[in-house]
Amino acid sequence: MKVLSYPNPFLRHKVKPVNEITDELRQAVAHMFETMYQAKGIGLAATQVGIDQAVFVINLTGEPAGEMVFINPELLDAQGNRREPEACLSLPGLEAKINRSAAVHVRALDLKGEPFEMEESDFPARVLQHEMDHLSGVLLIDKVGPAARIGLRGRLKELEQRYRPDDED
Ligand code: ZN
Repeated sequence: MKVLSYPNPFLRHKVKPVNEITDELRQAVAHMFETMYQAKGIGLAATQVGIDQAVFVINLTGEPAGEMVFINPELLDAQGNRREPEACLSLPGLEAKINRSAAVHVRALDLKGEPFEMEESDFPARVLQHEMDHLSGVLLIDKVGPAARIGLRGRLKELEQRYRPDDED
């Protein structure tokens, strides 16, 4: 599996909900974890590897027990506001300060199809919001203000020039 980079158009795709947890999906999730670890990431959304399913994985600790799968995630509640630097595997070499809710309450299904809820604040809350955005085709560069966007223009242009659609098929 390869992590798609900006400006790959699939990153703008809003994925379909998962209707059934199949072996294919379980395998895809295992590959997503592998790909995420190879890229030294802490979260990876299906959109970033070209899979049209509402699923993302995170591991905030790097330990096997830290692996979490979120299928069909929903945001139940969000509170507060925090502005912190953020990066994305699909936007290599780019970092920007982004406003996010300080705390979130999320509901999703796990890989067994069991519903679970999670309440997080600060950094984990930020990661959850970032990954949920990916499933709607939203990237962190959409969340920066016009002034900060000017500062990112050079790096975005480099990524656009470097982009070869055929490499990522
Ligand atoms: Zn990302």
